[in-house]
Amino acid sequence: MDLLQRLSQTLDRPLFPWKKLIIGFSVGQYLFEEFLSWRQYQVLKKTKVPKVLEAEVTQEVYDKSQDYGRAKAKFGFVRGLWGQLQNIAFIHFDVLPKLWAWTGKLLLNVAPARFTGEISHSIVFVLSFILIQQALSLPTSIYHTFVLEEKFGFNKQTPKLFITDMLKSNMLAFIIAPPVLAGFLSIVQKTGNQFFYYLWLFVAGLQVFMITVYPITILPLFNKLSPLEDGKLKNDVESLAKKLKFPLQELFVIDGSKRSAHSNAYFFGLPWKKHIVIYDTLIEKSKSEEVTAVLAHELGHWSLGHTTRLFGISQIHVFYIFTLFSVFINNASLYHDFGFVKEHPIIIGFILFSDALAPMDTVIKLLMNIISRRFEFQADEFARKLGYQQELAASLIKLQIQNLSTMDADWMYASYHFSHPILSERLKALDWTPSGKITEDKEEETVAEKASGREL
Ligand code: ZN
Repeated sequence: MDLLQRLSQTLDRPLFPWKKLIIGFSVGQYLFEEFLSWRQYQVLKKTKVPKVLEAEVTQEVYDKSQDYGRAKAKFGFVRGLWGQLQNIAFIHFDVLPKLWAWTGKLLLNVAPARFTGEISHSIVFVLSFILIQQALSLPTSIYHTFVLEEKFGFNKQTPKLFITDMLKSNMLAFIIAPPVLAGFLSIVQKTGNQFFYYLWLFVAGLQVFMITVYPITILPLFNKLSPLEDGKLKNDVESLAKKLKFPLQELFVIDGSKRSAHSNAYFFGLPWKKHIVIYDTLIEKSKSEEVTAVLAHELGHWSLGHTTRLFGISQIHVFYIFTLFSVFINNASLYHDFGFVKEHPIIIGFILFSDALAPMDTVIKLLMNIISRRFEFQADEFARKLGYQQELAASLIKLQIQNLSTMDADWMYASYHFSHPILSERLKALDWTPSGKITEDKEEETVAEKASGREL
């Protein structure tokens, strides 16, 4: 690992303007994303229904969906600006070193001596940081749920549920963060130059652990899973699973409608024992064959090895992050420029390093979305070959309409942001031709009744 050490020395130049560079990255990324949003906004101003959807989408639904798109875009602009201002203010007012010093003092005053080391200090620091971030994002998330989503009829959350959700997720952060951070920091402290290798193993183990315990421990805190009732849907899905040799253990329905009219279906579990979860909103709004078609698409992801490949890619990504982190961890000039002169806490190094890595994240996001969109086409094709062409097309169209999802997109915006191809592309790839209306009574589709499932 000679190369890494040399790189590390090259990047550690006294008085290098890290702060300016990182602010520059952050502003640059912000402007780039705003530029894309501006392009998308032009598409959202169109008033003519796209050709492929002409038979299905009324002018009224189209206008409404464009309205929703523009409302989300404006909200995104305000939220982005707010985040950007916070970021610059945090750097400008030295929030990190101040918070580090403050949490250090707090620990000295209240904790027994053996809990004042770097690990305990980092834990208190990170938890305070989470609380501050949360408080700052509270106004926008309240607005998003109770004004924006409410206005278009998607919100199903009550203020009480919103608050209990928040308390529960904080409680979880306070339970999970300390042991994970302690593991992370002690690995870096104890394994020397090769720490990135052990850190990667640690995170991979953690991921497998979370996949296993999440559905039985954390998920039930927020949602209720109940077995799918006997009937046609259950029989169809079970025989589909059997046909594909999918190791289906149990079929669940999740009460997604508790929070939102958005819906979905997915599977989870270990390679030899999997569970399928279907949102109640999806069942409620679709015909049984259409739900099966959606699951044929989902199981396509499994059968084509997409899940395994994505896990593999995420391992490479984690390894790459930690390897680069090992290049920056001893970068005195980076710490120094951010006001950490005497101390070089590992966790601070990691936060600063993550900021310096932001431009690379943009590239990775773009690549991941390209891969993901390709997988979506393949899963659609898989469902088509199984004979679900009509049903899948029908459910895609229905959900799109119910969800008021953006029907058209600017290509640059879509390439960067979308993990799924847009509807017209998917219908084209499915080789689907419109033949009469798919959605039944128009009357039924009042805005208040929408369910949705963009993330098929
Ligand atoms: Zn999919």
